[in-house]
Amino acid sequence: MEKRILIRNTRAIVTCDAKDHIYYGADILIEGQRILKIGSNLSDHFDEVIDGTDMFVYPGLVNTHHHFFQTFIRNLTSVDYPNMTVPVWLDKIYRIFRLVDSDVIFYSSLTAMADLVKHGCTTAFDHQYCFTRATGKTPVDRQMEAAKLLGIRYHAGRGTNTLPREKGSTMPEEMVETTDEFLSDCDRLIGLYHDPAPFSMSQIVMAPCQPMNCFTDTFTETVKMAREKGVRMHTHLGEGENPIMEERWGKRTLAWCEDIGFIGPDVWLAHAWELTDDEYRRLGETGTGISHCPTPAVLGGFPILPLKKLKEWGVNVSFGCDGSATNDGSSLLDAIRLAWMMQCWYSKERGGSVSPYDILKMATAGGAKTLGRDDIGSLEEGKAADLFMIDAGTLELSGTHHEPQSVIAHCGVTGYVKMTMVGGKVIFKDGVLTGVDERRLAKEGEEVCERVLKGPCKEYFYS
Ligand SMILES: [Zn+2]
Repeated sequence: MEKRILIRNTRAIVTCDAKDHIYYGADILIEGQRILKIGSNLSDHFDEVIDGTDMFVYPGLVNTHHHFFQTFIRNLTSVDYPNMTVPVWLDKIYRIFRLVDSDVIFYSSLTAMADLVKHGCTTAFDHQYCFTRATGKTPVDRQMEAAKLLGIRYHAGRGTNTLPREKGSTMPEEMVETTDEFLSDCDRLIGLYHDPAPFSMSQIVMAPCQPMNCFTDTFTETVKMAREKGVRMHTHLGEGENPIMEERWGKRTLAWCEDIGFIGPDVWLAHAWELTDDEYRRLGETGTGISHCPTPAVLGGFPILPLKKLKEWGVNVSFGCDGSATNDGSSLLDAIRLAWMMQCWYSKERGGSVSPYDILKMATAGGAKTLGRDDIGSLEEGKAADLFMIDAGTLELSGTHHEPQSVIAHCGVTGYVKMTMVGGKVIFKDGVLTGVDERRLAKEGEEVCERVLKGPCKEYFYS
């Protein structure tokens, strides 16, 4: 029989299920990878007990947009947004991007995923479009290695940029591939890593970086191959590129995507703050999702997504940290609170806000739906035992116990969570990543960053 774990005597279990059920003083019985039972005084046979006294338990958070490779390109005053234009910023940041090698990919991915795990994330998607001369085609393989080491579920977005600079792309030459190179690598990666079965630990998503920086056939071929292979699709959309697309193609980006079939329940879009109400309605009607990344929206001074309207129009919204070029940290708990603040700030203009609990659901159940998974995103019998606990017995959470479903967005949980579990396995507890020697890896990561990036780009790192 598979190992049974009992999480006993929790203060509250916020399930994020369809009925928004919250259990108080209950237990969770886990068998192998799945939740067997949730209820009071479960006395079935078990092999291990985890004390849930004073704990709030939530479904593991699902991150739906990130660029792990950027994690070693952060904390840089020299490329801060506020005092430069976007083209100047891009030019500076790409000079560092093109130096990225396979070791940078491995250690920066490990760093980002560790940060995610320590803040309650159990499934991460990454939009990896940094294929340089130094990395070759290794990045997704190195990321799979890092995810396995930490024990997080990983959905890799195989990105690409195919349009050369002289044809209007913003990408440096070193980061441009051909459509054929991209497709053959997608084919290789899907064969190696795409597991569509329940409780899957790794999947592949076809994710050309953005329509503006690709030939049209990169997208049309993606649509063809992704639907043939049964993988999902993702891209950046509605983040300021519409005037360029209109000039180039005589239509807005969403219309361009609609015309080639890059839309539907197997597609989700990062940011999408530049869309009209009619365009948002079309996303709702077609089941196309949005990954809302609150931190880059604030850093860039971009419009705030109308989450209440999106909910009314049936748009599935999930949450992303985004890469460190536009978010120096990787905590979805931060993103949840910031999203709530942004909605409050914006609510008078857009007829109110969604609730703090709605935001938590977007970051859990919404994320699962975005990735096409019905085995994660809520705490229910039969689903994966993917969850995190926070200690509500501490002074900073004293006086909050009446609404465990709202506390993350309302009050903020800024430190590490107490415990993160993926598929019944504790991967983080009491400040310790259980599967790795964290200090050794952190030191190796800093050395790689120094050798590959900081050395050749001193003027950016030591300005
Ligand atoms: Zn992005």
